[in-house]
Amino acid sequence: MRAWVIDKTDAGQTATLRDFPEADLMDGAVTVRISHSGLNYKDGLALTGTAPVVRRFPMIPGIDFAGTVETSDSPDFHPGDAVLLNGWGTGETHLGGYAERSRVPAEWLIPLPDGLTPARAMAIGTAGYTAMLSLMALEAHGLRPAHGPAVVTGAAGGVGSVAIALLASAGWHVIASTGRMAEEDYLRGLGASEVVDRATLAGTPRPLAKERWAAGVDSVGSATLANVLSMTRTGGAVAACGLAGGADLPGSVMPFILRGIALLGVDSVMAPRAKRIEAWGRLAKELDLDSLDRMTTTIGLDAVQDAAARIIAGQVRGRTVVEVG
Ligand code: NDP
Repeated sequence: MRAWVIDKTDAGQTATLRDFPEADLMDGAVTVRISHSGLNYKDGLALTGTAPVVRRFPMIPGIDFAGTVETSDSPDFHPGDAVLLNGWGTGETHLGGYAERSRVPAEWLIPLPDGLTPARAMAIGTAGYTAMLSLMALEAHGLRPAHGPAVVTGAAGGVGSVAIALLASAGWHVIASTGRMAEEDYLRGLGASEVVDRATLAGTPRPLAKERWAAGVDSVGSATLANVLSMTRTGGAVAACGLAGGADLPGSVMPFILRGIALLGVDSVMAPRAKRIEAWGRLAKELDLDSLDRMTTTIGLDAVQDAAARIIAGQVRGRTVVEVG
């Protein structure tokens, strides 16, 4: 089968689009014929070798995919079933989605929710599902639109774009923070009520700054997250899901101990199955499909390497679907 394959040699890591023997697929009860995958930041890290996310060689990258069950030893899935998968180490420790087939444990698969095609499921992809997990974390904390605005950092990226659309359709006043002010119309089109330059959140964070929002979805980390925390209203919370600006957190405990705010960690990779089914079900119902289509670019398997370099450079807008089949 055709697949992107990352190999490790004495000279370093190489990524090539080549034939891969189906006999070398990994253990699992279900073989899926993949029609679509997505491009996520982590795929960019894997394909460019920017960070050591690949922990088995050879590796087929692609941390999510959608397709049709081809063979199944599990009573839960049958040939022809439409399914999707994200996380569980796919594309890192288990052969992933940039290939015509994958063999995986049955419990990793989610039936494709009603209302979503495989292409749209991967337009949402890991990034969009993470945006939904972030919204769910804020809601579980008790936050609602009446408490005040929600800020979204990394707004023009994948997590950011879906987070804006979800928060806006749930009634939130959304403040989008971006380094690409030229994308203001795009961000307002997704539902942002205000667009701010990310430079305003990039300086040295003060322990406490003027309160600006009740909630936040942060895919940037580092000084940006520290600034967002310092500007969060009393009783508010920020869902931290990414590190596009850095993995450090150069902040102060003051927002926690003087304003009682909460920092909510969001991990999509190992989220339990029940939470995944809830998140994907909500995405199918609550994400405006016109907004999703507006943020989606579709590429072929052969364009993946270029797109990987561009997502690490912060140049990809919204979501990218990879047509595999
Ligand atoms: P994208 O590249 O699509 O979006 C990231 C955005 O962050 C960019 O578009 C840009 O937005 C902004 N950005 C990039 N570099 C910088 C920088 N140096 N300083 C400030 N802002 C920057 O990636 P995704 O949306 O797919 O992923 C975002 C992050 O979330 C990644 O770190 C990813 O690893 C993480 N993630 C985590 C998951 C989890 O399970 N916790 C799951 C999925 C993703 P703009 O141009 O608008 O400023």
